[in-house]
Amino acid sequence: MVSTSASAPRADAEPVIRLESVSKRFWTKDQTVHALDRIDLDVAPGEFVSLIGPSGCGKSTLLRVVGGLLERDGGTVAVEGEEPRQAKRHKRFGFVPQAPALLPWRSVRKNVGLLGEVNRRGADHPLLSDAERQDLLERVGLGEFLDALPGELSGGMQQRVSLVRAFVLGAPVLLMDEPFSALDEITRVDMRYLLLDLWERRRTTVLFVTHSIPEAVILSDRVVVLAPRPGRVIDIVDIDLPRPRDEALEDTDEFHAGVARIRHLLREGMDR
Ligand code: ADP
Ligand code: MG
Repeated sequence: MVSTSASAPRADAEPVIRLESVSKRFWTKDQTVHALDRIDLDVAPGEFVSLIGPSGCGKSTLLRVVGGLLERDGGTVAVEGEEPRQAKRHKRFGFVPQAPALLPWRSVRKNVGLLGEVNRRGADHPLLSDAERQDLLERVGLGEFLDALPGELSGGMQQRVSLVRAFVLGAPVLLMDEPFSALDEITRVDMRYLLLDLWERRRTTVLFVTHSIPEAVILSDRVVVLAPRPGRVIDIVDIDLPRPRDEALEDTDEFHAGVARIRHLLREGMDR
């Protein structure tokens, strides 16, 4: 069933990410953009939470504020009890951007391993072993491409490398900003299930930004629906589909109910 909740986490555990009344404005030459307006959100350990909303509603801004890449103007943010910048120094985050940022002269194997080494500095969580890394790469169908260069791979394959790399770092929080939006629809659907498979194994806390309602529903425990000008939370929708999830779920009434609910909320938000 699909239900709506307040911003409280479903688990009793301390939230991994806690946002209280977070605001952010940008000042440009001729206007003030109210990018985030008093955002409240708790994300529980191991939870998969998506942010959805129209272009310009502040999704990337929110992710960057959480990830310590951008200062907020108001409110509080805690990641495992730390300020975002401190959490960033302690390598609490893995980041998956829209376009995979792989080193073009390094093989798949090295891209996944090397950045692990670099990102290890300052981290206190264990890195995955070589065997675990290899296993994940094989799992996403890259077993035969370990020595290939990024330029020899399709966009979808490059993004798979980027995904595996994020999980390999072992960081407790993964921030993903529309990681599949540059891919064609068929590849994109495959990627959902690859991501779910990686996540089921690691159960890392994920904050995931997307434009796609079906993607948000199939992936998430909760979907945060945002509206623009000012960027704010309209509602948070619980997705109680069973896990592990597979493509067959997309044919169920529960799935369609989730999609319809979010579509309705997005429309409402635009009209307000
Ligand atoms: P989304 O990711 O949901 O598309 P963003 O977080 O990128 O939205 O942007 C939210 C709003 O803030 C938009 O109106 C955008 O134009 C504005 N904005 C984002 N970054 C900046 C910036 N560095 N300077 C000025 N305005 C910005
Ligand atoms: Mg964005």
